[in-house]
Amino acid sequence: MPYKEPAPINLDSESPFESMMERFEHAARLLNLDRGLFEFLKVPERQIIVAIPIQMDDGSVQVFEGYRVIHSIARGPSKGGIRFAPDITLDEMKALAAWMTWKCAVVNLPFGGAKGGVVCDPAVLTPVQLEKIARRYTANLLDTFGPEKDIPAPDLNTNEQIMAWVMDTYSMHARHTVTSVVTGKPKILGGSLGRREATGRGCMIVTKEALDRLRIPVNGATVAVQGFGNVGSMSAFFLHGLGCKIIAISDVSGGYYNPDGIDIPRAIDHARQQRSLRGFAGGESITNEELLELPCDVLLPAAREDQITAENAGRIKAKIICEGANGPTTAHADPILESRGILVIPDILANAGGVTVSYFEWVQDRMGYFWPLEQVNDGLERIIREGFHDVFDTAEQYHVSLRIGAYILAIDRVAQAVKVRGIYA
Ligand code: NAD
Repeated sequence: MPYKEPAPINLDSESPFESMMERFEHAARLLNLDRGLFEFLKVPERQIIVAIPIQMDDGSVQVFEGYRVIHSIARGPSKGGIRFAPDITLDEMKALAAWMTWKCAVVNLPFGGAKGGVVCDPAVLTPVQLEKIARRYTANLLDTFGPEKDIPAPDLNTNEQIMAWVMDTYSMHARHTVTSVVTGKPKILGGSLGRREATGRGCMIVTKEALDRLRIPVNGATVAVQGFGNVGSMSAFFLHGLGCKIIAISDVSGGYYNPDGIDIPRAIDHARQQRSLRGFAGGESITNEELLELPCDVLLPAAREDQITAENAGRIKAKIICEGANGPTTAHADPILESRGILVIPDILANAGGVTVSYFEWVQDRMGYFWPLEQVNDGLERIIREGFHDVFDTAEQYHVSLRIGAYILAIDRVAQAVKVRGIYA
């Protein structure tokens, strides 16, 4: 059956997940995706809810709720992070799992998408309690996780240490060490060189490709970066290294503007020592809102979702937006940016460097042979550049934005895999 128009969207909704669904539906419509396939790709393949009872320090038992959602395994084992946060919901996990399916497909990694999490507040938990939660969550999902099945990674409020506990718990039950069951592990347990910098490096690669396409010289191109954590600081560092002029940076403490170019290594040193950019003297103070609206060649939002909305999109003056963060632009801002000729490199392509090096980590663990940094970075560059060109070509073919081009490419790749596998019944 051909694709039918979905129910009209609620124009007040601007959540990143609804934004993702709007783009998915838009792309599916242009692809003329079969109605049955559309319904299949819209829903997760599996949704698991687990109870995690933990004995607290005073001997009482507290029960936490955990989730794992597998959106798709059509192209390979599912891949996606585990987050620990007090406000996560199953619905959010479903949307984020689908997001991972599209992200892996855009850069052609042999993975499907998943996401998981535990409803808890790490700020009030001791390290021992966090370890118990991570281990019991893993034990409850032993049949779900596996190097050939579903491979978790760090996400909001989880880190290398938590991945080490996941790996150890899984391995204790398997009765042998299985490093490839998680990525984002400490290097000593099979983590990959280059993982920490991978997302920022990927942002640098796509930004350079976009500047080349628009014939803007990379040397001296002006860049404003919102967020100075892992993605923002590394993106700024690599673009600075290419000769770009980083005219503004920011974090939760506010923004710092210097039209002559900010000394990025100095800003990174400051942020490392002070744990924030607060007090950075290498630029004059501006607000995060002002940073977004600065005249520049490239705006690189790398902080959080919903920063560029229908309200401020008309005032953005950048020629290129490179979405380092997930979901920094709402669906309602997209047409405004497009009508103003701003080239948006969508999140599912721009920040796919992290999952690409996670893929390399999984490959290296399975080979038991570890690559030098140069090999990791060369592989990353090849995959991200190919992803960029595939998205660009698809967008041209369908006369759409890079974002919708990326969704068309991803949905088509997953739909083709489903079609050729056939529906087993
Ligand atoms: P992080 O916690 O290391 O850094 C976040 C930065 O944003 C910090 O500098 C923080 O001060 C700043 N920030 C927070 N709220 C802000 C605000 N309102 N205005 C300005 N700055 C603000 O996080 P990260 O790992 O760099 O991730 C950033 C974004 O990139 C997130 O959307 C994340 O999902 C996405 N992402 C990260 C990776 C990765 O490998 N780390 C991969 C893909 C996508």
